[in-house]
Amino acid sequence: MEWYINRGSKNCFFCERLFREEEEYYSALYDEDNAFTRKDFCMECWNEKAGEGVFSYWKTKIQKKSETVQKYADTNVFYDLFIKLENENDHSRVNFRYVLSLYLMRKKILKLKTTHKANGNEYLVFKNLKEDKDTKVFIPKLSKDEVFAVTEEIGKLVNCIPKI
Ligand SMILES: [Zn+2]
Repeated sequence: MEWYINRGSKNCFFCERLFREEEEYYSALYDEDNAFTRKDFCMECWNEKAGEGVFSYWKTKIQKKSETVQKYADTNVFYDLFIKLENENDHSRVNFRYVLSLYLMRKKILKLKTTHKANGNEYLVFKNLKEDKDTKVFIPKLSKDEVFAVTEEIGKLVNCIPKI
């Protein structure tokens, strides 16, 4: 599983200005060459220049220097990714979506109804409590270690808030 991850930069991708303490800015995932790349933008540049080719984005805030606890990104970020990955067939994205579904289940956004087998493949069938509909998630043949690795990657991809 390969992920392109730049772990949250301390400056704007366009104007390269350093973010200030407690400054709000946008983080966006771009779908480039079959990998997700994260770029961070100051508000001004986001409004003027970003937008094209964005797969998913969210607002981030630079932490205060004194804050030691890393805040988890909003569940909506993960939900948005989960929805957008619905029709993806790429191996690593299928794994990604599976791990996201486990996370959303823990957050009580998805509720496991049953499992389903078709053509030698196994699926989890969830009720999407947000939209009141069912959704099917392919269960990849991942070892515990691989699930852990994907989980960690998702955390880094979305959750990293740099300190200044
Ligand atoms: Zn900028």
